[in-house]
Amino acid sequence: MSETTTGSSAVFLDRDGTLVHESLDYIIKPEDLELIDGVGQALRRLRAAGYKLVVITNQACLAKGILEEKTLEQIHDRLRSLLAEEAVQLDGIYFCGHHPEGAVQKYAQDSDRRKPAPGMLLEAAEELDIDLGRSWMVGDATGDAQAGRRAGCRTIILTDPEQIAKGGPGSPDITAADFAVKNLSEAADVIISQDISLEDSDEQPSAREAKSPAAVPNDNARILTDILRELRHQRVTQVHREFSVSKMLAGMLQCTVFLCLVMAYVAFSYWTEKSLYVCLAVGLILQTMVVALLLLHPSR
Ligand SMILES: [Mg+2]
Repeated sequence: MSETTTGSSAVFLDRDGTLVHESLDYIIKPEDLELIDGVGQALRRLRAAGYKLVVITNQACLAKGILEEKTLEQIHDRLRSLLAEEAVQLDGIYFCGHHPEGAVQKYAQDSDRRKPAPGMLLEAAEELDIDLGRSWMVGDATGDAQAGRRAGCRTIILTDPEQIAKGGPGSPDITAADFAVKNLSEAADVIISQDISLEDSDEQPSAREAKSPAAVPNDNARILTDILRELRHQRVTQVHREFSVSKMLAGMLQCTVFLCLVMAYVAFSYWTEKSLYVCLAVGLILQTMVVALLLLHPSR
């Protein structure tokens, strides 16, 4: 296997029943080819997600002589044209015309390019520089999933009953694939979500932080602002708590007590003994009130 390890990721796509409507017979004229609804949008999403888009299709009609290569090219030109109308460009179309029971000698043999063999995927990987380990194979047949797995891709089987009823390969074995969904739109959902999950799990925490540097300073600024707001609130509350009427009265009474002591000293020196006792008694009463006011203050 010539698997590359540094190439692009790709989605390999079966053609009939995956991109275009199945037919009871082979599609042998360009005008027979019609895109399945939603295919254009699904491929645009995959392209926007960075995947190369490569069609991988068995065309045993060449071996059976039902179709010539020239007409097949015209059919594929119509496929490219219809997809271009949907703003989608393919990176390649690989087909295998071989079949062991073919009538045309050139194609009447088995081939390692014919699905479920992985030959066409390996060839595309080599020519288009595709990393098969990062790529997907999507198709509506068991052989599509088997080819994808043998090439080293992850695989999705489509199980749209409408396409199966139109003459496809019958109900596929969904155990052959990693995922089974109804249509290509759902397959695109799986591919994109799975690869995003893988990228997230591979990322180191420091790398995730570095990916959004603006988020870190924004968070820090918000935290600092909250802290400052809380500190300011506590400071204002503290100032309000420290002021009270009882404290103010206690301060005024304490000043009066000092005045009483001064008057008692004057009375001791110049006034009568009775005046001295009155000043001391008033001072003692006032001092008791000061102590009582401070003891009863709720924020002590
Ligand atoms: Mg098919």
